[in-house]
Amino acid sequence: MILDRTHDAARRSWVDSANGGDSDFPIQNLPFGIYSRDGGGPRPGVAIGDMIVDLRAVGAAGLIGPEWATLLAGDDLDALLRAGVGTIGLLRSAAGDLLDTAADPAIRAAIERSALVPMAAAQMHVPTSVPGFTDFFAGIYHAEEGGRLTKADPPLTRNYGAMPLGYNGRASSVRISGEPVRRPLGQPPVDGAPEFGPSRWLDFELELGVYVAQGNDLGAPIAIAEARDRIAGYCLVNDWSARDIQFWENQPLGAFNSKGFSTTVSPWIVTQQAMAPFRAPLMDRLHGHPAPPRYLSDADDQAQGGLDIQLEAWLSSAAMRDANMGAVRITATNARHLYWTFAQMIVQHSCGGTNLRSGDLIASGTISGPTREQSGSMAELSAVGTIAIPLPTGETRGFLEDGDEVSLRARCVRDGFVPIGFGECSGRIIAAPAVPN
Ligand code: CA
Repeated sequence: MILDRTHDAARRSWVDSANGGDSDFPIQNLPFGIYSRDGGGPRPGVAIGDMIVDLRAVGAAGLIGPEWATLLAGDDLDALLRAGVGTIGLLRSAAGDLLDTAADPAIRAAIERSALVPMAAAQMHVPTSVPGFTDFFAGIYHAEEGGRLTKADPPLTRNYGAMPLGYNGRASSVRISGEPVRRPLGQPPVDGAPEFGPSRWLDFELELGVYVAQGNDLGAPIAIAEARDRIAGYCLVNDWSARDIQFWENQPLGAFNSKGFSTTVSPWIVTQQAMAPFRAPLMDRLHGHPAPPRYLSDADDQAQGGLDIQLEAWLSSAAMRDANMGAVRITATNARHLYWTFAQMIVQHSCGGTNLRSGDLIASGTISGPTREQSGSMAELSAVGTIAIPLPTGETRGFLEDGDEVSLRARCVRDGFVPIGFGECSGRIIAAPAVPN
């Protein structure tokens, strides 16, 4: 993986809030997103500190070339992603030069005059049109614990070590961080019998996602050596899950209403280039699994297709907020616990002929570590509601109650580099709709 001057830890921005090591968005990150303000239309921007730089305004001021105009004209980033990882990297480099303390003072003045927007004044949007959403199951500790908790024998299915398992999710209900999440209706079993009503076992799932850059034609699989270059960048994903509905409905065809009601994403696409310093070897094989089959094997991908990202989930209840208590951290894990790389997921997705499209969202599956404290869902943290999770108000949780807010956070830290983060991926549970007559 190529490291260059854009990763230089000595680099600083003239946007002061980007410096000092605490911001998710130092000049070494520069993720892209879609924002709007004051009722205006959605526009592309780049995050720096607690500010957004409007990319169309930067273009209009002549600070980037006219060739960018068509890629930044839409109300999503699909066109930019379709142009490919190299082009996305060029835009990130260009933005870095404009925001560097070494930039010409006239450039700074022009951006401050016409293109700098406080994040606090902006409404963020899902950054692509999300033509497709796919969710994998690449967190092996989650897969195994889920099997144990549901008394599957063996807990890990025999196919798990052979290929990344996934399912086609629901794209239309992907929502941006901050939007409320309505408790779904379905058939949660009551005293063992299915009864239509609100889910009582509402859960979160801590996941990473990638957005697809260039897709593939129908019937034309992507080779493993090319797969990483199909990844535009990364985000956090909360794949909200109604466990009671899920456990009842998922035989034999898999999750449906238990997952399709809402999926929350963080606002920014953290680019492939920005993540270069935080690559890691893929975790070791477990359970005597043989090496992956040839079409999923690539030495470079095995050596640095993993990701070293510290991941956390934080919870606040309505009572905690009423008492002015901050959110509590309920889990801390790391993306190194993924058993398959995103490149392998992309290969597996396309190998049967499926066409991926620019802007598609592909999520990892719940990322849990080997211990209960590192679990990426309430079902694991509470052992399906049998272990009470204490909150500072004296309340306890097995699953999520109305008014609960879950926030996912991600942070990449490595000696010699400036830490970067992903921004927040949060959602608050609101009451289920009335049961229709
Ligand atoms: Ca999931």
